[in-house]
Amino acid sequence: MGSSSPAKYKPYNRSSIQRAPQWDRIPADLREAVDVVSHVLPFRTNQYVLDELIDWDRIPDDPIFRLNFPHRTMLAPDDYATLQDLLRSGDKQQLAKQIYVIRSRMNPHPAGQLTHNVPELDGEVVPGIQHKYAETVLFFPSAGQTCHAYCTFCFRWPQFVGGGPALRGPGRRGAGRLPQAAPRGDRRPDHRGDPMIMRTANLERYLEPLLSPELSHIQNIRIGTKAVGYWPQRFTGDPDADDLMRLFERVVAAGKHLALMGHYNHPAELRPAIAQQALRRIIGTGAVVRMQSPVLRHINDDPAAWRELWTLGVKLGAIPYYMFVERDTGARSYFELPLTEAYDIFRTAYASVSGLSRTVRGPSMSAFPGKVLIDGVPTIRGEKVFALQFLQARRGELVRRPFYAKFDPAATWFDQLVPAFGERRFFFEDEPSAEVPALVGKPLDVVGV
Ligand SMILES: *Cc1c(COP(=O)(O)O)cnc(C)c1O
Repeated sequence: MGSSSPAKYKPYNRSSIQRAPQWDRIPADLREAVDVVSHVLPFRTNQYVLDELIDWDRIPDDPIFRLNFPHRTMLAPDDYATLQDLLRSGDKQQLAKQIYVIRSRMNPHPAGQLTHNVPELDGEVVPGIQHKYAETVLFFPSAGQTCHAYCTFCFRWPQFVGGGPALRGPGRRGAGRLPQAAPRGDRRPDHRGDPMIMRTANLERYLEPLLSPELSHIQNIRIGTKAVGYWPQRFTGDPDADDLMRLFERVVAAGKHLALMGHYNHPAELRPAIAQQALRRIIGTGAVVRMQSPVLRHINDDPAAWRELWTLGVKLGAIPYYMFVERDTGARSYFELPLTEAYDIFRTAYASVSGLSRTVRGPSMSAFPGKVLIDGVPTIRGEKVFALQFLQARRGELVRRPFYAKFDPAATWFDQLVPAFGERRFFFEDEPSAEVPALVGKPLDVVGV
């Protein structure tokens, strides 16, 4: 690994990656796979990730390499072969068509996020906001357009390939629509990346208004970010990093709880000195850093990785928050794990850390009715079951009420589960589903994601 962290952010995409100093270290067949697969799934990395996070002696199995570089088996073998042929033949029109077909099969909007959670105020749809759980709204700033590097598992892949239009396919104007109807979601700004991509002056325009006395019901402000792992210089050496720290201090001084929701997928992201320095600086402003990540095959399907992540994180002042199950989207089959395996990884890691790390909850599925925790795999009166409960629910009264699904060693998502004990429905299916809760002046978290 390199010894000098670059001072200036230098991104790479499919065309420019060939100029990266490390490109020659990637064997030819893997390089071709990067090219083929990144025609479907978005690819972006940066020099810091290449220099400091990837162990080039361990590619292709190095987890950060897997996390950044598209890999052949992220596509079905037939799809890969077809694309490979089309790229070789140079038939651009067929290529575009095929890319569209493959993307259309990758669920772009998991768990109805865009269609069901868009609130209305005085009968007007509020663009850029999602309100699924009563206590929290998600806000997608139109100015945060990308990330410092893309994770190959990310559920936001559709917007990184250009949002709606890229999924509408080639051909005549207005020829197609989104693979799933998203009539209201369509009206939101479709650029939603990492808020920390924004320059401080820009971020300030979003945050300062939240500090006004009329918005005193907004108690907590969270900023979801991958910058802590992929570009920690955002908080240390960038020209406006100091201004950013002052901004965080002002938010805290205004009486808000400011939380950076750090998307740390692997402990390698916390090992570099500069990553640790970034964490210390953020915490020094009075902000809190919480850590969350999905559990992913090829990346962190190992209790030791989670143990190190939580232990090192806590030592540096961060708070372990969620372990998620990978959503039904993108290159899911590459990353997915049976729920029972995800649970074993969680439990093994959790059992091996101090109570200070046990603030973490998981594995949790962000499913349509809510966040569903896999709480165990007990055998009750001779039947092996999944013990489940909602950590969050559209209907708040469902939270933390245990329920049970038939054990299924192959199940990878909530919609594959059926009730245990011969019951016909889960307890929450007996009642009508609730609409988005009303957006009124109640205590509220705002989450910039
Ligand atoms: C996870 C999530 C939240 C926040 O839930 P917390 O449990 O408070 O972290 C809010 N909205 C949506 C849609 C979510 O998926």
